[in-house]
Amino acid sequence: MEEQCIGIDLGGTNIRIGLVNETDEVGDLLYLSVKEYSSWDELLIKLISIIRKMEVDRLKAAGIAVAGGVSLPQGVVSYSPHIRWIDGQPIKESLARAINLPVWIDNDANAITYGEWMYGAGKGLSSIICLTLGSGVGGGIILKGKLYRAEDGLGGEIGHMCVQPNGRPCRCGKRGCLEAYSSGTAVSTIYRETSQNGQIDNRLNPVQIYERAVGGDKRALGVFNTLGVHLGIAIANLVNVLSTHHYIIAGGVSHAWELFFDPLEEALEANLFNPHKGRVKVFRGQLGDKAGVVGVARMARDYLKSKIQ
Ligand SMILES: [Zn+2]
Repeated sequence: MEEQCIGIDLGGTNIRIGLVNETDEVGDLLYLSVKEYSSWDELLIKLISIIRKMEVDRLKAAGIAVAGGVSLPQGVVSYSPHIRWIDGQPIKESLARAINLPVWIDNDANAITYGEWMYGAGKGLSSIICLTLGSGVGGGIILKGKLYRAEDGLGGEIGHMCVQPNGRPCRCGKRGCLEAYSSGTAVSTIYRETSQNGQIDNRLNPVQIYERAVGGDKRALGVFNTLGVHLGIAIANLVNVLSTHHYIIAGGVSHAWELFFDPLEEALEANLFNPHKGRVKVFRGQLGDKAGVVGVARMARDYLKSKIQ
């Protein structure tokens, strides 16, 4: 009987749930919306009811990726700017007890990075840095075959790197963070701010702004140009510090790739320390929506085999 692991990707907006088999094929994802829940206990009840309908005998482990910092090995969310009600919750322990399976918990960007590294755009590379563009901007760093966590689980928070001194306000309270320029939220906000008739544009989401840009709307094109420029500056800073040459852009906003890649490359090259010029490769993520689910399910399995700590 083939064994399976459950992957749960608890992002800032959507919750994605999928089953991953031994060859890491992932079935169709089940989607829930974060805004329908107001506490971890509420969501936990829903997760238990979903998991009990699965073929429980085949399940070996569960992985849950959350949008926020995670204290390992306790599995407590230390800081989540997007889902306040999971701050301080003992997610790993309560989920493991409820479903009677070993559980691995990690940051959602780390899970996406792990998924893209194992099966997607980063396959076969020993060092990659992945930037996830969604509601916010997350990041994951694999250095010489190991996920870099730092000491408090907040390693790789690239979204809060300053790319513009005294720049746009960020949800974290600082100014000029990458997230304030290159997230889906930033796309909507910047477009609205440059609007002549804010009332109508107020309702536009990043997908609609993307469609306008593709249709030739100059303001919309400008938003994606700004996104690319700041992403290029951030990647150049990472290259200059870490001397790693492979980068992956994942997350929903990466669908607008053709609109931001040229300004990204131009800003990247302009800000690189000379020895790195012409050597940095930026790839688009290959796993789409499934990256976090596959990544965290694979982490759960590797964790059981004690491959990662
Ligand atoms: Zn910030």
